[in-house]
Amino acid sequence: MILIINNNEIILNKEKKIKIFNLNWNFKKQKVFFTLYIRLNGIKRDIYFNIDKNASIIKIKYNNIKSLDVIRHSSAHLMAHAIKNLYPKVLFSVGPVIKNGFYYDFFLKEKISNNDLKKIENEMKKIVNSNFDIIKEKPNIIKLLSVFKNNKYKINIIKNLQPTKEISVYKQGDFIDLCYGPHIKNTKFLRHFKLIRISGAYWKNDSNNEMLYRIYGTAWDNENNLLNYLYNIKRLQTIDHRIIGKKQGLFHLSRNSPGVIFWNNNGWKIFNSIKKYISFNLEIYGYKEINTPSLLNEDIFKKSGHIDKFLSNMFIYKDNFNTNVLKPMSCPCHIEIFNNFNKKSYKNLPLRFSEFGLCYRNEISGSLYGLMRLKGFTQDDGHILCSIDKLYFEIIKFIQLLKKIYYRFNFKIFKIILAKRPNNISDNIKLWEKAEEILEKSLKIFKMNYSVTTDGAFYGPKLEFLLKDNCDRIWQCGTVQLDFFTCLRLNAKYDSSMGKLKYPVLIHRAILGSIERFLGILLENNHGYIPFYFSETQIIIIYINNKYLNYAKNVYNILKYKYKSKLYVSNDRLDTKIKICIEKKIPYILILGEKEFSKNMITVRSYKSEKFLMLKIKDFILELNKNNI
Ligand SMILES: [Zn+2]
Ligand SMILES: [Zn+2]
Repeated sequence: MILIINNNEIILNKEKKIKIFNLNWNFKKQKVFFTLYIRLNGIKRDIYFNIDKNASIIKIKYNNIKSLDVIRHSSAHLMAHAIKNLYPKVLFSVGPVIKNGFYYDFFLKEKISNNDLKKIENEMKKIVNSNFDIIKEKPNIIKLLSVFKNNKYKINIIKNLQPTKEISVYKQGDFIDLCYGPHIKNTKFLRHFKLIRISGAYWKNDSNNEMLYRIYGTAWDNENNLLNYLYNIKRLQTIDHRIIGKKQGLFHLSRNSPGVIFWNNNGWKIFNSIKKYISFNLEIYGYKEINTPSLLNEDIFKKSGHIDKFLSNMFIYKDNFNTNVLKPMSCPCHIEIFNNFNKKSYKNLPLRFSEFGLCYRNEISGSLYGLMRLKGFTQDDGHILCSIDKLYFEIIKFIQLLKKIYYRFNFKIFKIILAKRPNNISDNIKLWEKAEEILEKSLKIFKMNYSVTTDGAFYGPKLEFLLKDNCDRIWQCGTVQLDFFTCLRLNAKYDSSMGKLKYPVLIHRAILGSIERFLGILLENNHGYIPFYFSETQIIIIYINNKYLNYAKNVYNILKYKYKSKLYVSNDRLDTKIKICIEKKIPYILILGEKEFSKNMITVRSYKSEKFLMLKIKDFILELNKNNI
């Protein structure tokens, strides 16, 4: 459909070409059309933006992610309006859109809690039913400062605005907020929202500033999507890896080291079994495992360019002699190892280094989240120094390895993104194109579907491998990035077959990303079960009383050579023993008593069926083998 916008009027015209994106939709099939937003030269605008050129309109899908952003941001205003009605002395700071919803930060003298959310929601519904038009105005700076004169947060924001940026406010009823927009046209379109929780947040995320309230909410385009989302967050609460970790005694988080994990013995064993498996496979694929310092002189990161790009994320401290950093990634250290080789010949390339690199990044406290987001974490990092003619083979090899490892963790690659040259990079175009062609060709060999973006790193194109968990959440874990610059910056050269010194291409690659985060994903994906291969105890044998101890030992002796098996020695009651084993998420629980002993069989509870079945031991082993575990 092609439309022309003239003075904000929409006229259907079939001949004109598309230039500006606009969005109309049919609200709840009531044939109420309203303009949600316009994309003018790539910038989001709403209907209050003055359009003097012919423009065309594309209908964007109802649940388009970007359209939802407009609904969510309008819902943040709606919530603020409701809070203002209930607590007139409230002072608002910022209210952005986040994944699946929105939040608003505000200062309030009164104490409020999650119990007040219902009251605020009810007030929001009243505003929705008042059918307020949401109107944009563009006051001058003097007017603006007087409108918000009693709110030090908004005054601070206004004073820090770039002078070139258009300043505007949005009004609905008697509520007014500082905002660029865009917003929907009327409050009546905001019907599918829910306030989730209240928490504290420092003004500007700085712990030296005062603590504000933050209310999180979600908003959707229809009731079904809202209910689905609420159902999912409830479900996710039951599989939260932080709760699982505590229940199973795997690890703990402490104020004594925020953002770094304290591993208990059980958790550390699982962590190491993952490392061991990766290590084993890397060796098969020709990697040399190395280990480099976490604490380094800043010079190496200055040369590599990381200080320029990542300074705000790096931990830095000065002593009497040096400025030291905790490494945020291992790349320059691997080049350092290469540069220390005596002979760097084409004959040694490709050279594959791997490291379980202990890295530190200075994440803001509010963003830390269990194992998923940490300040200190272990990367399954690797770098391949490679000549351009071997690049294709190396990428193929890496994808092969990646697929093998994901399979072991019961994951399939859900999506691949090929990130090509960003539009603002115009150097070395031929090299970029060649590298992009190699990446594309490798994906085709594996018949893998991929989508293309122009979000490549400044140093080269990359592939990102996305996994989907059992809750339909997408996780980016694996990556392979081609880098034409770092070897040049760190003066890493090799002797080519022509006797000339050349810079190799550097391939940065990771399979799991952060092992801690990957373990968090595993725990949630399998509701607390670690994939069988990595379980610390794969099979536990419970015997009902000492009369069956010898029978239990016989079964144990059959299983112990192939599977990590244990005899459960304790005087607990049978049901207590079973309960403990289920809580510890042991994949197979075997129960042996009179019935089993007399028939020479075993009763098995499998983590898959969660039912108790009586089997012959050879059938149990067949079952284990059949499942390829
Ligand atoms: Zn706004
Ligand atoms: Zn790297």
